[in-house]
Amino acid sequence: MDRLAIVVPCYNEEEVLKIASKALRETLEDLVQKGKIAEDSFILFVNDGSKDRTWELIEEEHREHPVQVCGVKLAGNVGHQFALTAGLLTAKDMSDVTISIDADLQDDVAVIEEMIDKFHAGNDIVYGVRRERKTDTFFKRTTAQAFYKLMALMGVKTVYNHADFRLMSRRAVEQFSQYRETNLFLRGMMPLIGYETDCVYYDRKERAAGTSKYPLKKMLALAFDGISSFSVKPISMILGMGFLIIVCSILAAVYALISFFTGHVVPGWTSLILSIWFLGGLQLLAIGLVGQYIGKIYIEVKHRPRYNIEKILK
Ligand code: UDP
Ligand code: MG
Repeated sequence: MDRLAIVVPCYNEEEVLKIASKALRETLEDLVQKGKIAEDSFILFVNDGSKDRTWELIEEEHREHPVQVCGVKLAGNVGHQFALTAGLLTAKDMSDVTISIDADLQDDVAVIEEMIDKFHAGNDIVYGVRRERKTDTFFKRTTAQAFYKLMALMGVKTVYNHADFRLMSRRAVEQFSQYRETNLFLRGMMPLIGYETDCVYYDRKERAAGTSKYPLKKMLALAFDGISSFSVKPISMILGMGFLIIVCSILAAVYALISFFTGHVVPGWTSLILSIWFLGGLQLLAIGLVGQYIGKIYIEVKHRPRYNIEKILK
């Protein structure tokens, strides 16, 4: 029987922790009863340097339910993506399959069973995908959707409307641990792992309690990280722009020369306008070119695994 670890990053979640713990314990009990997971399956709360009583509550839960509730205390606040990674890598050696979920229960615990079924059907990663975002504010919904579209435009593969509610088999987490980059954007990394994947769909709910720990500033930072950690397209765009302006400068040259010979110009205008266009283009081209090398260095220093063997027949 497979031992399940539910990994829950928590930052200042004292209002919701007990509610989350109860809901997740009930989910575990239900799955154990149905014979779908091992009896010693557990929840792993990761305290991401909370300033409130979150850690005390995790300790309390652990005392009351020593098998079902475990905890990891990070030494300081490192952010959702790192906290989740810490949880996954800790859970890796204690479990056969992990599910990551937010503490606020916005993601539907009811689809965990379906995730497990899909895992048993042979999938290594099962993505939780939001069907609708009715409960999100108009602002959050539109910015989030623009973000997914921008990512796609930049050539970053992500699962549309999937946040970090996801099942991963032990070998998927093991492969993930080979990605040693520090600029984490988990949603972009998981599709790189490969293996069989599937999705489950659910409606995103309101927060069970407490307030969002993702203000606009953190959202923008995550979006920038997502693009800059996965794509060197912005650099190619500079290069492209440089080319475009050089081409424009040729057109400008023709126009300036015609004006010069027809004699409708102030002295000095021709040489000035030509230099401005040409030098501008040349500079952008040069920056873009240097950028291309930096982009390559950036990709190299990540030391990502170059491939991931799924099966060998011998
Ligand atoms: N979180 C975290 N560290 C942080 C910020 C958030 O571990 O620095 C956790 C938080 O406790 C929650 C999850 O990340 O479990 C998602 O945060 P939240 O629900 O506030 O984000 P939203 O759903 O509003 O985007
Ligand atoms: Mg939330």
